[in-house]
Amino acid sequence: MTSQQDYKLNDDDVKILKYLSKNTGKTVYQSELWKELKLDSRVVSRSLQKLEGLGFVKRKEAVVKGRKTFLIEPETRKIQETLTVVKTQGPGKEFEGVLDVVCVSCPFIYRCYQGGYYDPTNCSMLSEYIKKRVEVDTKSVELKT
Ligand code: SF4
Repeated sequence: MTSQQDYKLNDDDVKILKYLSKNTGKTVYQSELWKELKLDSRVVSRSLQKLEGLGFVKRKEAVVKGRKTFLIEPETRKIQETLTVVKTQGPGKEFEGVLDVVCVSCPFIYRCYQGGYYDPTNCSMLSEYIKKRVEVDTKSVELKT
């Protein structure tokens, strides 16, 4: 069975596929999809081109409220099969332990760098996280011995 990694699907691609899978039978236009998903219209456009190339959707030219757009026709079976594999696989072994690192959910991550206002070398949140991890790891080593 083909996986998310085989198709090189990113999070936005998967978000679109999940939406299409949940809304089977609904008429979906490209011009409305990006609003529904709260994504940038260019991101959705690029993603749909990619998904079309991979055979997940077909796009047919359409006009909505006087504007050109595309009607999205999902290949529901292929989408659902792929989503099942994605769900089963989870984020992948290489991400285990990474997703709970405090920086992953930090609102300042894009402004954080050495020497900056937010600086990992003197961040109390990161220090606290590392301290807790060391405590947990030490306890697990003690339990094993
Ligand atoms: S080091 Fe601190 S400020 Fe920087 S991303 Fe991590 S938690 Fe956020």
